[in-house]
Amino acid sequence: MLDLPIAYLKGVGPQKAEMIQKDLNVFTVGDLLWQLPFRYIDKTKFTRIADINEETESVLIKGILRRVEIIGDGAKKRAVARIRDESGFVDLVWFKGINWLEKNLESGAAYIVYGKPQFFNTNYSIPHPEMELANEENQQNALTFAPIYASTEKLNNRGLDVKARRKLILQIFEKLKQSDIPEFIPPQIISKLKLIDRYQAIVKIHFPKSEEELEQATRRLKFEELFVIQMRLLMLKKLRKSSIKGHTFSIVGEKFNEFYKNKLPFSLTEAQKRVLKEIRKDLGAGVQMNRLVQGDVGSGKTIVAFLSMLIGLDNGFQACMMAPTEILARQHYEGLSAFGELIGVKIEFLSGSIKGKKRAAILEDLISGEIDILIGTHALIEDPVQFKNLGLAIIDEQHRFGVEQRGKLWNKSKPFPPHILVMTATPIPRTLAMTLYGDLDVSVIDELPPGRKPITTLHWTENQRLRLKGFIKEEIDKGRQIYIVYPLIEESEKMDLLDLMQGYENIQRDFPMPDYQVSIVHGKLKNAEKDYEMQRFVAGKCQIMVATTVIEVGVNVPNASVMIIENSERFGLSQLHQLRGRVGRGADQSFCILMSSFKLTSDSREKLKTMVRTTNGFEIAEVDLKLRGPGDIEGTQQSGLLNLRIANLAKDGIILQTARDLAIEILDFDPTLSAPNHLSLKNHLEQIKKYANVWSRIS
Ligand code: ADP
Ligand code: MG
Repeated sequence: MLDLPIAYLKGVGPQKAEMIQKDLNVFTVGDLLWQLPFRYIDKTKFTRIADINEETESVLIKGILRRVEIIGDGAKKRAVARIRDESGFVDLVWFKGINWLEKNLESGAAYIVYGKPQFFNTNYSIPHPEMELANEENQQNALTFAPIYASTEKLNNRGLDVKARRKLILQIFEKLKQSDIPEFIPPQIISKLKLIDRYQAIVKIHFPKSEEELEQATRRLKFEELFVIQMRLLMLKKLRKSSIKGHTFSIVGEKFNEFYKNKLPFSLTEAQKRVLKEIRKDLGAGVQMNRLVQGDVGSGKTIVAFLSMLIGLDNGFQACMMAPTEILARQHYEGLSAFGELIGVKIEFLSGSIKGKKRAAILEDLISGEIDILIGTHALIEDPVQFKNLGLAIIDEQHRFGVEQRGKLWNKSKPFPPHILVMTATPIPRTLAMTLYGDLDVSVIDELPPGRKPITTLHWTENQRLRLKGFIKEEIDKGRQIYIVYPLIEESEKMDLLDLMQGYENIQRDFPMPDYQVSIVHGKLKNAEKDYEMQRFVAGKCQIMVATTVIEVGVNVPNASVMIIENSERFGLSQLHQLRGRVGRGADQSFCILMSSFKLTSDSREKLKTMVRTTNGFEIAEVDLKLRGPGDIEGTQQSGLLNLRIANLAKDGIILQTARDLAIEILDFDPTLSAPNHLSLKNHLEQIKKYANVWSRIS
């Protein structure tokens, strides 16, 4: 029955069916059933009329209908009825459907009335209430939580309002059998977690009779949803490990050792060592590596990447490293090619701006094996870029790349795909990581290199502008460099650019040449100009850089110790955190100053407070998740994994952890799900496979 088209339901003609398909993406009866309510109206108790007060939201009351009167005429014509219980009375008012009411309402009969009371003149009245006779049956049905579904204006107005929708669901339930909603959670889990069965859950989630029923149904369905995701991710991971072979990097050789022992300008932190060890183990295992390295800004991911690439070279392979922006890619190139020269490793740079002969030469040297490491932007994955033997591909700040782009990397190497190392400085809340990266191996660099002074973060408003100017001057006098960042958001691009240019002019006026040099960098500049401005700052030739978020990712200027963020309330938390990470890279005390307007929404206030309170990226990520919800966290937008039906990753961390633990337990014990108590789970997972193609690998 659940596979039947929606038009099968009584009251749904072809026209309505089409509207439902279009607006709700619902095609079958089952689709409709599985569109769950997103909230409920509590109709579980009758309210005494005398208890209605100003704070009362909607109420359910029961009383005797006294009189029905028609008052006024023309536009003001209305029907007024008075209803009374043992404690008092309210008036019911209608401006529409008056004739029908007059004919059908029974004076003297008992009614159940639902609506939102308003105080009018001397007593409460309820405009356009829902009402029905208080007979036995209606009374039973009235006392529930009434479900509210996501809908559209059009559907509401054209015959599928919430009441009609409820009726359709009730119609489905009339015919629905227990066997239509078979259980698939293994019995041992059902009893361990005291879950209600699947059929009960779907009935109760639509029409819970009590808070308790609602809670039971919700918990069961959330668990089910998260459990299925975890089963799939973990099975995918197992499958990948058993079926996708990889190049085996069996030795750690000359280049690695020479660099590590004699050239590395510092010693690695324990966290870096640990992660490098994890990577080395992967690389030698004969299975394709798919590892995510999470590490806060400044935790030293680049050097870990470089050392990993050297292992590749020592085993006769090439490596590449892809970064999301030209600036960042260049900076990686400049830093690493200096290292490369020390040990005779040839590193080249490729981006869209490398053209003509130069590009042709690079492509040639790449395929001949002349080049050991190629660093660049997404230009690396274009089809003409062919390697002799790519063994390892590193992706910095992967969330900037689409799934398809990443997929292209896979085809750059034969007979096995290259090992993939994905690096991100955007700490992801645990619940999100478990979902988004549940099929990857994850390493965390949870330690900063020694000797860094914590960054001092301040939140200032407009009336501290003069103080800001004085502060900038003091810091420059000490020889420091300053970033000033403006938001630039696509929707308000023009205004934002004006803002930026205005800010730039003000700064130039306050800090005039020749004593001061100010550079400016934004996305609208040509690459050459951008590079020129950037280079002036990197080389210490100018003290202030005014910029948009193009400097957000990865830029490294140790002498820059002040980050000023204008209109900081307009940035997301993770962006603010990223920006702040641009300073605090040298030995000096660093500052991040968040400028904002005086008036702030409570969310913005919490955002800025969080920044002032902590520099821990993971803590910040948790707050970000709470404030913005999973769909808006950077890096998650492309993932179908987060279109959850009922679970909420910001709130259901415990259920998620339980689901993952139990999924791991099951797969450890019965990897092929062939035990009798796992057969229905196996069936279910196979069945939903065909609907779930949005799931794709991370790299
Ligand atoms: P991120 O993780 O943000 O990419 P980087 O790799 O850019 O960080 O490293 C930030 C800075 O810290 C660089 O200047 C780098 O040379 C330095 N660095 C990295 N590891 C160490 C270490 N173990 N000790 C001292 N400095 C380090
Ligand atoms: Mg980096």
